Amino acid sequence: MTGINASAHSKPFATLIITNAVIYTVDNERPKAEALAVIRDRIVAVGSSTEIDLWRGPETKMIDARGKLVLPGFNDAHVHFVSGGAQLDQVNLNDAANPQEFAKRIAAQASKTPKGEWVLGGRWDETKWPKPQLPTKGLVDPVTSDTPIFVERYDGHQALANAAAMKLAGVTGKTADVPGGVIVRDGSGNPTGIFKDAAQELINKAIPPMSHERRMRAARRAVEHAGSLGVTSVQHMNPEFADVAAYSELAEKGKLATRIYAVPIETSWQDQAKIGIRHSWGSTYLRLGAVKGYADGSLGSRTAYMFEPFADEPANRGLLSDEMHPESAMRARLMQADAAGLQLRIHAIGDRAISMILDIFSDIETEHGYHDQRFTIEHAQHMAEKDFARFSKLHVIASMQPYHAVDDGRWAEKRLGHRRARFSYAWHSFLDHGVTLAFGTDWPVAPLNPLLGLYAAVTRATLDGKNPDGWIPEEKITLSEAVEAYTLGSAFAEFQEHEKGSITPGKLADLVILSDNIFDLKPETIRNVKVETTIVGGKVIHGETLNR
Ligand SMILES: [Zn+2]
Repeated sequence: MTGINASAHSKPFATLIITNAVIYTVDNERPKAEALAVIRDRIVAVGSSTEIDLWRGPETKMIDARGKLVLPGFNDAHVHFVSGGAQLDQVNLNDAANPQEFAKRIAAQASKTPKGEWVLGGRWDETKWPKPQLPTKGLVDPVTSDTPIFVERYDGHQALANAAAMKLAGVTGKTADVPGGVIVRDGSGNPTGIFKDAAQELINKAIPPMSHERRMRAARRAVEHAGSLGVTSVQHMNPEFADVAAYSELAEKGKLATRIYAVPIETSWQDQAKIGIRHSWGSTYLRLGAVKGYADGSLGSRTAYMFEPFADEPANRGLLSDEMHPESAMRARLMQADAAGLQLRIHAIGDRAISMILDIFSDIETEHGYHDQRFTIEHAQHMAEKDFARFSKLHVIASMQPYHAVDDGRWAEKRLGHRRARFSYAWHSFLDHGVTLAFGTDWPVAPLNPLLGLYAAVTRATLDGKNPDGWIPEEKITLSEAVEAYTLGSAFAEFQEHEKGSITPGKLADLVILSDNIFDLKPETIRNVKVETTIVGGKVIHGETLNR
């Protein structure tokens, strides 16, 4: 047994023991075990049930896992945690089957919305209706009275406002269209309530900023949701500083049950640097010290920046982000942020955007030397084959979201063409090149449930059922590799591999017990597995497996 000697009475008693389990540790020193002991928030011993029983004292809480699988808690390397939490309380219109159902759900949401707040979110999809027509404010005005609503289509490119929202925004029939946007109008020129693309800003600017109370509620909801899914750590990309304040307040009250690495936008890198914050600065529950930037857009909106045009739109190679105009400005900021000791986490999806960010990382390494900076490319979706070696040589981490591959994989090849699709979501190629993978979801863009991610990584079976043996099966990875990317890999991406990511004595006691042993299942059934118990810092925060 690791970490203790034969004299059982000379050591303190465990506060918690999990026994009779199948423990998959993600620790090569001892890959499997039956039991583990925890003192307060740390794992102190991992071994056989008999060995661990020596740690038992009169006050020790015992969990009999009854042969179930125990894993390190999942660490989601890319989320938007507060917006995710806020969305849990928003109306869901996505599966509303017809306009009547759409109006009914909005009415129900409006009736429970406190005065002064807006009904937002929605993610409606009129193509699912018997007659696929855009909704109008006439559908919802009778059931919402003075509660403003602005509910978006699932793609975020258009949204429906009611009369109350338009009144608050000062939009009338006389309001002119804006460049890059459309106000949809009826026969007499009056707005129907639908605002497209840039025109959405006409309404958005009237939405009050999230109140402190609402932000706290969203943060609490997100923490609760993460706990129920076995996600014990998250890396929050582009938080507002008010989000960090909300976490801080929860932590102070002992209510922050998800460990958070907050990664604010790179354009404001000085905010962290000026007070001397460097990478992964903070407590075990809340840390700062990284910056997140954007190099390009997304494949879905054809704004991923590519070397060659999209297969289904020959005049378009995508778009660089505002931050990359000019590229030299991005390079200068990232150079300074690196000099200040901040970690760089850059969103790049198209092959050319990825390549340009690698160029910048290479320049930084030439200038400042390699000092274990842990440069990270977020998404790293569509790779140029030539760039894998560089990715590895520069020690860049690939922070990826396996669920996107089975979701977007339904249509991605049409957009990319077969040859370019080959190195899309290329987990296996990354591992072959010795690149560290950190897995996550981009929640709320994809569901937060890590079992869906593991399922996607091992099957690559697209959601439309058209690729049961995997879309680009060469890039499937093993379940062990996927679990490691979702635990130790993500911990590495936030400089915490010595604190968490495996079940190892001395590390934080962040653990999950699953309903089934995913290593024994057919890969396609992994997505049905549930997290029964979640433990963070030695405390059960979800589930009721406590036997005494
Ligand atoms: Zn994101």
